[in-house]
Amino acid sequence: MLARQTNRTSRVTDRLDGVEILLVDDSRTYGAALTHRFERFYGISVIHCETLADLTAALEAGADRYAIAMVDLNLPGAPNGEALDLLLAHKVPPIVFTATFSEQMRRAVMEKSVADYVMKNSPAAIDHLVSSVVRLLSNRDIHVLVVDDVASTRELMARHLRTQLFRVTTASGAKEAFAALEANPDISLAVIDYEMPGMSGTELVATIRTYPDLERLRIIGVSSGNGSDLMTKFLKAGANDFVHRPFNMEEFHWRVAQNVHTVLQVRELRELAARDYLTGLYNRRHFFDLGPRLVAAGRAACQPMSMAIMDIDHFKRLNDTYGHEIGDVVLKAVARTLQAACGKKHLIARLGGEEFGVLITGLDIADAKEFCNELRSSIEHTPVATDDGDLKVTISIGLAEIAEIESFDNYLNAADQFLYMAKHAGRNCVISEFDLGSRAVA
Ligand code: GH3
Ligand code: MG
Ligand code: MG
Repeated sequence: MLARQTNRTSRVTDRLDGVEILLVDDSRTYGAALTHRFERFYGISVIHCETLADLTAALEAGADRYAIAMVDLNLPGAPNGEALDLLLAHKVPPIVFTATFSEQMRRAVMEKSVADYVMKNSPAAIDHLVSSVVRLLSNRDIHVLVVDDVASTRELMARHLRTQLFRVTTASGAKEAFAALEANPDISLAVIDYEMPGMSGTELVATIRTYPDLERLRIIGVSSGNGSDLMTKFLKAGANDFVHRPFNMEEFHWRVAQNVHTVLQVRELRELAARDYLTGLYNRRHFFDLGPRLVAAGRAACQPMSMAIMDIDHFKRLNDTYGHEIGDVVLKAVARTLQAACGKKHLIARLGGEEFGVLITGLDIADAKEFCNELRSSIEHTPVATDDGDLKVTISIGLAEIAEIESFDNYLNAADQFLYMAKHAGRNCVISEFDLGSRAVA
């Protein structure tokens, strides 16, 4: 049913560092090839078990470490899928990877919640297996909402989706669905039944579509009703797709896969559009898009916040002396240092040229000043390696507290004025309102 998939996996999921997966297969050749592919290209660690005893030992070390297992049904001394049963008992999602696969065996295997199966019968088998693993791992970042008033069908869909490693939330009607969407803004796909007491599926879809922030939610309508006019109703209400009942699980599977593919593509495009091409930091547009929302959320949570603008000192001189290419190397190195220090806690972006904006969250102005000063110092003490030798770089920083409710622009303007003062105070320093009236401190 699920076999041979698409090779289309999103680049968003290209690196999966730290993920551990099991390979249960007595072939050393496959073991070596797969270990190499996963480790080298994805950063995924492969734990290779050649026997049932190896697998037992690996699972005893903690089965929940493993995101997925690739398993041959036929191992020496365990020829009838014993390894698969062991994995299922330990709740490690299995992909069956096997050379011997009769129709009868296929049915037996599909009854056992396997995530996928891949045949070993072609030179492309390894490619197929790798893309299956990557696709399933990327499903873990997709949160699906299943809305159906009938518990058995709701659970049938949810179970199938969980087997595919999706995160699943269920709702038995419109009211629960809205509560789930509100509580889980990361839900990116909803599967919605038509016949439900209270609000019908199509009414629910139409109502969802009146919310601008749910505009990107993909919706698949489901109904046992007769055919095309319901499908039209769903599509008119704003659904993206439709599946009939009684369920053809394979159709359901592929409709979901297609819609998830679109979700991943849109995510990837949005991510690309939010990034600065040179440094890989967020760009100005994204800073202005996300920044005001973070400020509103921070205010609601009573978190102290401040805005910093950081600008490389005498960068024009550096460009003039060493050339634009070396200038770019320096920009990238400074961006890396700043990004590493900000992590996910503080929003950083390249605002343009050699200027970076940082929205500092959760630090009062004194601590924010200290944070900026540490950044300034680490840039000063981390020479940038270039073809022309190690170059010393410094930055100046203007820091403004976000106290009153003002436009996002105004916070930046305030920081910019302090930056101007920092340049005049001799560069390589941090200035905030803290320093007004006293001498600027480096
Ligand atoms: P100050 O210390 O006052 O900030 O002086 P500065 O020379 O750094 O400032 P100025 O704004 O005069 O110069 C900024 C320079 O940054 C000019 C521009 O050519 C250079 N620049 C802007 N974007 C890029 C880029 O993407 N790559 C490189 N290599 N240089 C860039
Ligand atoms: Mg500058
Ligand atoms: Mg500048």
